[in-house]
Order: sequence, then C-alpha cells, then structure tokens
Amino acid sequence: MKLDVLALFPEIIIPALQTGILKRIQDIGGLTINVYNLRDWATDRHKSVDDYPYGGGAGMILKPEPLFAAVKTLNTTSDANVVFLTPQGSPLTQSLVEAMSLETHIILICGRYKGIDERVRQQIVTTEISIGDYVLSGGEIAALVLIDAIGRVLPGALGDFESAHEDSFSQDLLDHPHYTRPAVYEGMEVPQVLLSGHHENIKKWRQVEALKRTAQCRPDLLQNLELSDEELNILNTPKNGS
Ligand code: SAM
Repeated sequence: MKLDVLALFPEIIIPALQTGILKRIQDIGGLTINVYNLRDWATDRHKSVDDYPYGGGAGMILKPEPLFAAVKTLNTTSDANVVFLTPQGSPLTQSLVEAMSLETHIILICGRYKGIDERVRQQIVTTEISIGDYVLSGGEIAALVLIDAIGRVLPGALGDFESAHEDSFSQDLLDHPHYTRPAVYEGMEVPQVLLSGHHENIKKWRQVEALKRTAQCRPDLLQNLELSDEELNILNTPKNGS
C-alpha cells in the first residue's frame, strides 16, 4: 500500500513514522508513506496556501489551487482514495480501518485553520473521515491516527497476527483483561484459571470476560451481535454471583 500525506506541518507526522510498528511495516515493504508539504504546490513567491474566507468571518481557508495541483501530481493513475480528515466525516471505526487496509493507494489531506475550500471537497475528495466528535487544530494528528490504525493491521506489522485479531472491536467486543507477573501484587491475585495451563478453560474465561467488559463499558456494541442463550445467561449473572 502507498500512503501519500498532504500537510502544512509534516514535522508533526514524520517522527512518529520512524518508531515501532509503523517503522517495521515500512521496513518490510508493507507500506510506503510519503509526507508532502502542501507549500510545495504554492505558486506565489510567499508560498501561501491559505486565504481569507469569502463572506468574511474569522479564520483562514486552505486555497483550492495547491490542493488540486498536489492531488493531480500524486494521483497519477487516478485510482487513489483521496481522504480528507475532517470532524464532519464518517466516524473512524476498526471495520473502516480494516477495509482501508486493503486499498493500494490513499492520499490523505490534512486541513488547517477553518478548513479547505469547498470545491476541493466536491471535486477531488472521495472519502471524509473524522477521528471523533471534537475539533483538532489540524488534520496532521488525525492522519497519524488513521495511518497507525491501518499500519498495524497490515500483514507482517505485528509479530503475531492473532494479537490484532483479538483486540477490541475486531469482533464487536472489547478485549478481555490481561495480567502479567507477579501472580500476586500487593494482595491482588491473578485469576486462578490463567495460571492453570488449561488452554480450553483460559479461552473460555477470556471470551466470558470480553463479553462482560463489553456489556459494562460499551453495551452499544452488543447490539451488533447475535448472543447465544449461554452468553445471555452470562450477562444476566450478578457480578458477585459469578
Ligand atoms: N471548521 C471546521 C469544522 O468545524 O468542521 C474545523 C476546522 S479544524 C480547526 C482544522 C482541521 O483539523 C480540519 O480541516 C481537519 O483537517 C482537522 N480536524 C479537526 N478535527 C478533526 C477530527 N475530529 N477528525 C479529523 N480531522 C479533524
């Protein structure tokens, strides 16, 4: 997959691409990421990419010319998914991340100030994505969130694919609780089943705990699931009666 990023502040994005899983997936050739400064497509001697809004009001708007020119340069085969990060976009979910991880070329447009000229949205943007119902000062951090989420589900990014497969949201459930050594910490014990070495019982315990945690923290997710009678029973069990 190739990911091109258009940003006014590439320096926010570039350091994060050089560590951890994002570095590994680039090193093994699973993902190519190019971060471009939008000013490279400015045509005046001040390299300006923003201007005042028609109709007046506070804040600047990213001009259409540099964005049209940049996307024209980068989208050589005209088949890239041109994504604008915006609080007005579709909410980013794990299923959207997984669908996007199958694409071959994505161009990410990071807005700034009041946003981008509407004609860019209408003519060249193919997908609009929001990372949540709040407003950031720019799209760079939102782009990083999306890049990280896509990068970690690409084949070879994680040492063990199962660890992504079992994470929260991959099956409309939150992840189960995790413990590591010591077995007793300041009187708090690790559940006995996890020390038993009995793989079937451990698997069962994890499924039950994932279900309970989802019911407790994100009951809305359960609406997407067809729960078995056994699972419904588990959820009706009073907490201290289990
Ligand atoms: N005036 C815009 C609005 O209310 O919809 C907000 C502009 S915001 C200050 C500047 C830029 O940050 C946006 O163009 C977008 O690229 C990015 N941004 C802000 N919040 C975001 C979010 N929740 N998800 C994705 N991008 C966001």
